[in-house]
Amino acid sequence: MKAEIVAVGTELLMGETADTNSGWLASRFPQVGLELQYVTVVGDNLAQLTEVLGRAFQRSDFTFTCGGLGPTEDDLTRDAVAKVLGEEITTAPELLRWLEGVFRERRMEMPAANIKQAGIIPSATSLPNPMGTAPAWWVERGGHVIVTMPGPPRELQFMWEHQVEPRIRERVRGNIVLTRTFKTIGLSEAAVDEMVHHLYGSNSNPYLGIYAKPDGIYLRAIARAQGQRQAQEMLHPLEEGIQGALGRYIWGVDEDRPEEMVGRLLTERGLTLATIESCTGGLLAGTITDVPGSSRYFRGGIIAYSNDIKVAAGVDPTVIEKHGAVSQECAAAMAQAVCRHLGADCGLSVTGVAGPDSLEGVAPGNVFIGVAHPGGVEVLHQRYPPRRPLVKARAATMALLELVRVLKAGVGQK
Ligand code: AMP
Ligand code: MG
Repeated sequence: MKAEIVAVGTELLMGETADTNSGWLASRFPQVGLELQYVTVVGDNLAQLTEVLGRAFQRSDFTFTCGGLGPTEDDLTRDAVAKVLGEEITTAPELLRWLEGVFRERRMEMPAANIKQAGIIPSATSLPNPMGTAPAWWVERGGHVIVTMPGPPRELQFMWEHQVEPRIRERVRGNIVLTRTFKTIGLSEAAVDEMVHHLYGSNSNPYLGIYAKPDGIYLRAIARAQGQRQAQEMLHPLEEGIQGALGRYIWGVDEDRPEEMVGRLLTERGLTLATIESCTGGLLAGTITDVPGSSRYFRGGIIAYSNDIKVAAGVDPTVIEKHGAVSQECAAAMAQAVCRHLGADCGLSVTGVAGPDSLEGVAPGNVFIGVAHPGGVEVLHQRYPPRRPLVKARAATMALLELVRVLKAGVGQK
């Protein structure tokens, strides 16, 4: 089924707001059998919006709009859809009652402008939006569908998952594309290819794609079939083969993030963590605490940007004098010191040169990552391209993945 997205809003055309909704929706289409053919960004202009929607409605089976459902004058998506279908918008009493209820709950007077959010046309079914004040429309005529979705990404995602996707699944048959992404670390692209090549040979369905990402090499298995079940059955043996071939190098799948894996593994093993970081300037601790519930295993962190702070945290000053602050020895001493100082089972340290200049004779891009755990301490030396934001981001990600590796290897057991 051919699908099309129309992102509505002058702020998108001005570059003030990035159109993240289109990409998010696009990534959800293949698994329900929608083939995206066009994405259009259009401003809050009734004539232009009507023209774009008219064309979309004709040439595509499904058109998804996002934005322009608000209460203000410039929110015109409903008006444009009505024009395309040649229908009249009237206020739906049950929608108005619901909307008044939303404002009553918020203990606010409902502005008159909001009444238009209770409008509907005969060809539309309203899809409730419990996250906001704009219900979506499911509009259908002659086998063509327009779905109007709210602009705020949180609302759009909720509406897709709870209201729109289930309806699409009921209708669309054939051409289902299912994917499974395996995230590996410690291997080059070529090495991954060599290790899995026997699994697919020259097959194009299911297909294996290999991509280099900041958090390792991704291996993506893609299966196309006429239904969900068939696609799953094609993926299954491939998944087992990949697990068998790459098992210990796989740190996560699909949407997994390194900080979540760290949390999961520490929780499973009943271990706590403390961090001490210099060149990442707090990014490591910041990332760890992005995970809800991280307080259960994360004790705290020290930003030891200067040498005397490293010493205050318990690093032996002679280690720094002898080997330098950016060294394998210092990374090990930092990780062990922070375990003691903050009373944690595991300590994660980062010391490096973010650049652009060298430090103590060490070239920018050199980073040492230390992992102290109940069984000892390990240090990883990394060399990144000497670009400051990149070094910081890569070092924080790699520190988390190094901890994942150590915990998975079981050496972190108490
Ligand atoms: P609207 O429904 O047009 O009133 O938009 C509501 C909010 O969602 C505004 O803050 C928009 O900037 C935001 N928004 C609208 N469309 C998009 C989009 N395509 N991607 C990301 N944010 C959006
Ligand atoms: Mg808008």
